[in-house]
Amino acid sequence: MLEVISIPTFTDNYVWLIKNTENNHCCIVDPGQAEPVLQVINQQNLILDAILITHHHYDHVDGISDILAASVHPVEIYSSIAMEVGVPINLVAENSQLHLLDNSLQLTVMATPGHKREHVVYYNQTMLFSGDTLFSGGCGRILDGSAAELFSSLQRIKALNENILVYPAHEYTQANLMFCYAVEPQNNNLKQRIEHTAKLRQQGLPTLPNSLKNEKEINVFLRTNEATVSMAMEHKLLEILTSEQAVFTALRAWKDHF
Ligand SMILES: [Zn+2]
Repeated sequence: MLEVISIPTFTDNYVWLIKNTENNHCCIVDPGQAEPVLQVINQQNLILDAILITHHHYDHVDGISDILAASVHPVEIYSSIAMEVGVPINLVAENSQLHLLDNSLQLTVMATPGHKREHVVYYNQTMLFSGDTLFSGGCGRILDGSAAELFSSLQRIKALNENILVYPAHEYTQANLMFCYAVEPQNNNLKQRIEHTAKLRQQGLPTLPNSLKNEKEINVFLRTNEATVSMAMEHKLLEILTSEQAVFTALRAWKDHF
């Protein structure tokens, strides 16, 4: 059986650890810090097999070297671009198939440029590690990509099996939902998610993962096809938006200053 554990790092990052509960082998996604990850690995007597990287911001990669230095077993690293970490990198690209944890975990790579051009996500029929491409209630900022690229990446994610659980790299949910609410104050699913999120945060619990199904109900960046969302943006901008991509671009620009 596989279990996914959230390891908080920095102020609002999560490293996701996927563990095979039968043999305690595990892999991790985006270790920006080593210490909190090594603590979990040591406490639970885990054997780290692999590190998966979505993109190359410091808060996703800076823990790699110290984790490798502390590992007695060989660790495979998967990344879409080369890195200098003292061991060979397994380069991945669109449609790469990863067979991890003695083949108990298979993941497919999807290239999702937009936040960063090298950004990839890892997914199968039940889980999606979405890095900084898709958050609960939000999406990444456009840093060295374009709005068209990020829109297209999110549309491809939206088309995946909706029972997938989404594991983003940041706990941004509460702030993101306030933005969604400003766009769609009449969305009842959104109101429920806001209430549920507040309860979880009061107890100090992660709001993640969330189902892709629910994200499609609440996350305005996945709802550019909804009249409520496009009309809200048209009212705000006082212009007609003729495509979903135009609605998305307007949403992303507003969120940058929200
Ligand atoms: Zn990032």
